[in-house]
Amino acid sequence: MPKINVLPKSIAELIAAGEVVERPASIVKEAVENSIDAGATHITIEIQRGGITYIRITDNGCGIANDDVPKAFLRHATSKIEKAVDLDSISTLGFRGEALAATSAVSRVEMFTKTIDEDFGTHYKIEGGEEVLYEEVGCPDGTTLIVRDLFYNTPARMKFLKKDVSEGTTVSAIIERQALSHHEIAFKLIRDGKQTLATSGDGKLSSAVYSVLGREISNTLIPVNLTLDGVKVTGLVCKPVSCRASRAYQFTFLNGRYVQSGTITAATEQAYKNSAMVGKFPVFVLGVEIPFETVDVNVHPAKTQVRFSDEKRVFTAVYNAVKNAILSGDTRPEIAVTPPKNNTFLHMTAEQYRQTAVKLPVQETKPQPKVEVEPEPKAEPVRLKADNTPFFLRDEFKPNVPEKKTVVDIVKEEPVQEVLKSEPIRHEVKVEEKEYSPKEEIKLIGEAFNTYIVAQKGDSIFMIDKHAAHERILFNKLKENHVIESQSLLVPVTVKLIGDEYTAMINNVSLLSEYGFEVEDFGNESVLVRAIPSMLSKEDAEGIIVEAAHSLVQKGNVDLERIDDILHTVACKAAIKAGYITSDIERLNLAIKVLSDNDIMYCPHGRPVAFEIKKYNLEKYFGRIQ
Ligand code: ADP
Ligand code: MG
Repeated sequence: MPKINVLPKSIAELIAAGEVVERPASIVKEAVENSIDAGATHITIEIQRGGITYIRITDNGCGIANDDVPKAFLRHATSKIEKAVDLDSISTLGFRGEALAATSAVSRVEMFTKTIDEDFGTHYKIEGGEEVLYEEVGCPDGTTLIVRDLFYNTPARMKFLKKDVSEGTTVSAIIERQALSHHEIAFKLIRDGKQTLATSGDGKLSSAVYSVLGREISNTLIPVNLTLDGVKVTGLVCKPVSCRASRAYQFTFLNGRYVQSGTITAATEQAYKNSAMVGKFPVFVLGVEIPFETVDVNVHPAKTQVRFSDEKRVFTAVYNAVKNAILSGDTRPEIAVTPPKNNTFLHMTAEQYRQTAVKLPVQETKPQPKVEVEPEPKAEPVRLKADNTPFFLRDEFKPNVPEKKTVVDIVKEEPVQEVLKSEPIRHEVKVEEKEYSPKEEIKLIGEAFNTYIVAQKGDSIFMIDKHAAHERILFNKLKENHVIESQSLLVPVTVKLIGDEYTAMINNVSLLSEYGFEVEDFGNESVLVRAIPSMLSKEDAEGIIVEAAHSLVQKGNVDLERIDDILHTVACKAAIKAGYITSDIERLNLAIKVLSDNDIMYCPHGRPVAFEIKKYNLEKYFGRIQ
């Protein structure tokens, strides 16, 4: 029988310390949290060798009174809570009363501290949990904590530390999070004698983000600010087009504490769905504030995990806050036009130019290709809808105008064939402002490569990918209406599927029927398609069933995603393709739709629908302005 021993205090302390102090970064995190709780406005952190040999944290907070100093290093000694009920609404970062005890158990600790009411401060030293010095000293208000030789008395733990550089990087990451979550505090980090981070502490999140994440990222961010149902969400998120390949730039703060919350991350990412490219992740720095009693932070010693009493409320608030931000800002990607380098012509007078031009080698002139005027419908015919409505008369090409005389009505007055044959249609089709109410007139410039519509609005030119735009418009409409008109196929089509896809299709027959598909099991891994949404052409039946089956397998159990995917597929198939011939009136109407609706920024797969070139940038490029 092994004998049972009650461990001496010193060993018990070492075991307890293990939970709190894993590496230098854990000490830094706890100490900086203490400085924040002490109301500091300036915190300086210095580390050497990744913090393994030396950590110093200096703050200008409230300090510790002389007779309280030794107490602060005892386990479960804290000034932040008194009674068990205090645990139910924790407003400070610390509360467990363990950090100083744990740190001093596994290192050599020295503290200088002074409160504003004392004439003298306190100098205290404690090594491996044993007090070695306790004296009065002259020092500034606030606290300086110095931690040397981490794990000097527990060599086994020392072995688990990584290289100095990695430990140092982990410390940096901790400080970055703290600087982002407390932008009212000026942080300074010094690594091996070099200052590697400094924030101004001016109270603006954007300043902290600029210092921590750099200019490139901070330029892509848009503000978030919404309070919903008692949950306040503020911060900055990136434009959908600036999403990144990893989640490295996601920061969540709950009541001022950095946390890792699946709920908040999922809500944010969900808000980007259908706007960001698949496989890309948003950059965000989000602060969520909720009543202290609705969250439990006492789940894990590191306090980065939290539990909400009402997850759904938090999810809904974050989702809506982020979604609003994405939709309200003008988040279209913009091309920055930089003037060509070394363009000496830019600075020449007309006289200088003429003289220089004369000296330039003469370019060999190649025979000029003959410029042919393209007759309107050429390569492919205008696609007709099942009910034979010409493509451009379809609803989605109408601006959002109730009744009255609209652009489309004007066109309808002309015989359709006329429009198709006619000379290039005159551009000044009047779209009266009050009827669809875009703030500035939208003018069609033309179309490049039968793919990109070029339009002008206010002081900008927009290039619009017509397939992506049309796909997005259809998708939004489908999502809004929920009812999709169906058309029966005169001759049902048999579609052969494989394994999983066949099973998924059969299992979702009733879901598909809500979206205009009538599909039956035909045995032998095939299905019989009797009807498809009427916005699709009949030739698409087989292709769309195969695609739908494929996405059903991919999106297996998430209902919302399965439906979205079906709608994507329908929208994509029904949308006009790049390369198709479109008439001017269609182009104009599509441009109006896109430029008047902030929800048409990205196609459902997350590709951008339009990008903007500002007049200002063109003028810069051409040297009209400097
Ligand atoms: P906790 O933060 O959970 O209370 P700690 O062990 O981190 O426990 O600190 C113990 C106590 O020491 C704190 O409650 C606080 O009163 C005091 N303290 C620690 N660091 C500081 C500081 N930088 N400034 C003022 N007081 C501090
Ligand atoms: Mg603490």
